[in-house]
Amino acid sequence: MMTKLKEYKMYINGEWVDAENKKTFKSLNPENNEPWAIVPEASAKDINNAVGAAQKAFEGKWPKLMPRERANYLKAIANQLRENAEMLGKIETIDTGKLFRETKTQANYIAEYYDYFAGLTDKVEGTVLPIDKPNMQVITTREPIGVIAAIIPWNSQMLLTAVKLAPALAMGNTVVIKSSELAPATMFEFAKLIEKTGIPKGVVNVVTGFGDPCGKALTTHKNVERIAFTGGPETARHIIRNSAENLSQVSLELGGKSPVAVFEDADQENALNGITAGIFGASGQSCIAGSRLYLQKNIYENFLDKLVNRAKKIKLGNPMESDTQMGPLSSLKQLEIIEKNIKLTVDQGGKIKCGGKRHSLSNKGYYFPATIIECENHNLPTAENELFGPVLSVMKFETEEEVINKMNDNQYGLSSGIYTKDLGRGLRVSKAIRAGITFVNTYRLISPSAPFGGMKDSGYGKEAGIESIKDYTRVKTTWFNTSNKPMSDPFTMG
Ligand code: NAD
Repeated sequence: MMTKLKEYKMYINGEWVDAENKKTFKSLNPENNEPWAIVPEASAKDINNAVGAAQKAFEGKWPKLMPRERANYLKAIANQLRENAEMLGKIETIDTGKLFRETKTQANYIAEYYDYFAGLTDKVEGTVLPIDKPNMQVITTREPIGVIAAIIPWNSQMLLTAVKLAPALAMGNTVVIKSSELAPATMFEFAKLIEKTGIPKGVVNVVTGFGDPCGKALTTHKNVERIAFTGGPETARHIIRNSAENLSQVSLELGGKSPVAVFEDADQENALNGITAGIFGASGQSCIAGSRLYLQKNIYENFLDKLVNRAKKIKLGNPMESDTQMGPLSSLKQLEIIEKNIKLTVDQGGKIKCGGKRHSLSNKGYYFPATIIECENHNLPTAENELFGPVLSVMKFETEEEVINKMNDNQYGLSSGIYTKDLGRGLRVSKAIRAGITFVNTYRLISPSAPFGGMKDSGYGKEAGIESIKDYTRVKTTWFNTSNKPMSDPFTMG
């Protein structure tokens, strides 16, 4: 018997609407490869409506509210998240295959981001300049930018929305959120919670659709002033080209191929846990996944054995079950990319220590087991490319200098990890690694106060943390003439 699909509408100008041309698409449940929800597919016309609504709201009372009034809306969003974490977690798990225990915990924790930025609404100050002119008082103020386009990937959506939406709203901007076509449902459930806060119409709009026309129409729209993007590097290139149309400011949070080094003095139990969290947590579908592992020569064989034993015990299964440790991958395409890279690596000498093949559960869902591949060098495909899956490539190193060079020898620079009891070395190595984040003796942690973002091809701009709120403002300079005499020579500037 066919189960009835859950129907969603887009949230534009405080109304629940279909796409104007009535187009829809289905979202698949990665657990069983079956459609479970049907959502509108936005066209350029719908995007125009959403941006128009956001623009109108920006011209209305929203940016003029007292900071504390906007903070109250942010706190109301936080409370909605806490009260509905279970429901949001469930929807995200069905739509993405991510473990329910993680999606539920994350939805609850993400409330902290809205509270954090609520607390910052009245902390962003201007300046009085020590100006080099007599009879002039010059001040700078931080002004909201206007309509923000937030482009979200399918994974960690609640987090990746919060780090854009919360600072944007705090500073008086209005927002159009575009959810991923791979897993659009959670954002619509979130929009229902936003509506409950009574936030003015048009301040937050949620649309979904494909990169083209939906994403393209949004990122080229003439009234969009800033694009906050998280996703893959190829899409980022489109976004930058699109932004040439509207000259909007862009921030990019992109992929990673994050290196992790274990030195021979490391606490091995701690390192095993950290590595497992880093690459097998969320089935490796995390932008900060620690997917390149370097082990120091003296501990290489022994540590690798322990790691392989640990990986073999990981319980694959239905992501809703509380004892499942790894759920399915989010899409068949992802599974196929992983298989292709593994095949190429094995052809070039890579040795599979565990996993490496679709799990038998894959007859229905996109299940792939924890996989460890020994690589002679890190130029093999699994060791070089972002796979977004539970695949760890392992290499050997001898000296600190050598491992620093190896860790830096990749196009990406998002995250990194070091396991050592020598804190001097921890500091030296972390300073030498060109990555936006380094974890020493830990991994896969986030916080509203910790800036998050990459270097090199992992993008630019930082999300979360106190400074990130300024990205949602522009500096305005205002000159006051305090003289009671007329201006001198109007034909010279000075
Ligand atoms: P993706 O790049 O395929 O899609 C991201 C979003 O961009 C989607 O909403 C998509 O519809 C939209 N898009 C696609 N083409 C577009 C276009 N031409 N114009 C405008 N928008 C367009 O990414 P994904 O597969 O959903 O997510 C996985 C990627 O995201 C990985 O590379 C991962 O590393 C990265 N990621 C990075 C971070 C971070 O913070 N650095 C966090 C999570 C994920």
